[in-house]
Amino acid sequence: MSGAEIAVIGAGVIGLAIAHRLALDGREVVVIDPAPPGSGASYGNAGTIADYAIQPVGTPDVLRNLPSLLFDRNSPLSIRHAALPTLAPWLLRFARQSLPGAARRNAVAIADLMAGALPGWDALASEIGGEDLMRRQGCMYLFETQAGFRGAQNDLAFRRSLGVSVEMLNGDELAAMEPGLPPVEGGAAYFPRAVFFTDPGAMVGRLEAAARAAGVQFVTARVDGLTRSAGQVQLTGVGLDLQAKRVVIAAGAHSKALARAAGDRVPLETERGYHVEWDMEVPRLSRPCCPTSRGFYFCPMQGRLRVAGTVELGGVTAPASAHRIAKLVEGARAFFPDLGPPDRKWLGFRPSMPDSLPVIGPSRGGDDVLHAYGHGHVGLTMAPVTAQMVADLVAGRTPDAAITPCLPSRF
Ligand SMILES: Cc1cc2nc3c(=O)[nH]c(=O)nc-3n(C[C@H](O)[C@H](O)[C@H](O)COP(=O)(O)OP(=O)(O)OC[C@H]3O[C@@H](n4cnc5c(N)ncnc54)[C@H](O)[C@@H]3O)c2cc1C
Repeated sequence: MSGAEIAVIGAGVIGLAIAHRLALDGREVVVIDPAPPGSGASYGNAGTIADYAIQPVGTPDVLRNLPSLLFDRNSPLSIRHAALPTLAPWLLRFARQSLPGAARRNAVAIADLMAGALPGWDALASEIGGEDLMRRQGCMYLFETQAGFRGAQNDLAFRRSLGVSVEMLNGDELAAMEPGLPPVEGGAAYFPRAVFFTDPGAMVGRLEAAARAAGVQFVTARVDGLTRSAGQVQLTGVGLDLQAKRVVIAAGAHSKALARAAGDRVPLETERGYHVEWDMEVPRLSRPCCPTSRGFYFCPMQGRLRVAGTVELGGVTAPASAHRIAKLVEGARAFFPDLGPPDRKWLGFRPSMPDSLPVIGPSRGGDDVLHAYGHGHVGLTMAPVTAQMVADLVAGRTPDAAITPCLPSRF
């Protein structure tokens, strides 16, 4: 293939949702990715459609604890020390975005984006035949101590003020809803509206199939070069030489160099995240439960229990850390001591911005290149909202006002 109306770089949940939406709008779309569609971060996540996750990663609390969090290799937020010099500029921006005023503004902007998340997935799941993979049983934060419960009250009140539904459960109420859990002293915060996927990889597979059925073409190649010439954008790479009228950069944590080639400098880094899985017929819980002090979720998935989460700052090239995986297993065994060695281990790359807001919108050099990446911890949740915004931009419609804080021109 040598020409296309629209080329989408990256076949994660973001690129696929965009390609699918554009194809339904009657556009001719090609998706380019060297890896199988949906095999990046979009495969191994916790599967929560977490419209309650309106807090940015950077908050005054995180800022206060940043030194101890970053330099304690056992904490849920850690850093690979070798990567510190490269990460310093991002960390500086992150620290600034964690100050009270900025953190509050970012939360309000995230809440605006989240308003469309559940309706967006309801519509998308029905279009792609994915309803059987959705569960409407909410999600929970678990507090292992009374102090943890008390410490969360301000945060939960703030979320309520931004429209999040949350119910507090004491230990007995929690035990009644999740009898498979051991006693949890501080109880739980229950987000009843939240939805989860029993297999995010399968959901993304359905999205790929629906995109193909709508006419989207797929090219297996890595985009190494992006240049503008004569009203076209040229994409090159090994075995790839393609001209498109429009290009959407949706390569997740790998988007920075492509954005740079389009003339845009974006402070994109990755928060590396892990999962471990144990095969079992009945995965012990009815809904995703996150012991907040440990920074991971127990996720009941089809035929397995997935334990997914934690943050490791340290780039996209270093191998998985055996220590981080061991900590995840240890954390899981604090609740379920009988778990043996996990059946699978996985490392994935969240595409992370210092303000926890995605980058969505036109390049400085013109709207022939659109950006759509940087969704951090909530890319699965925000995929349909992002796709709609990109489709609106392509069609010349005014996108939802929630796009404004996401524009690449904010840097
Ligand atoms: C442990 C963990 C738990 C998570 N839990 C949740 C959750 O519960 N809910 C939620 O909403 N989100 C969650 N997330 C975040 C979510 O998974 C990501 O935000 C989302 O998957 C990002 O999607 P993406 O399409 O941008 O990136 P990816 O899925 O990583 O896709 C990017 C694609 O771009 C391709 N690519 C890279 N470079 C190039 C190139 N040069 N040319 C062509 N293609 C290229 C890659 O091969 C890849 O296929 C979690 C993430 C992790 C790691």
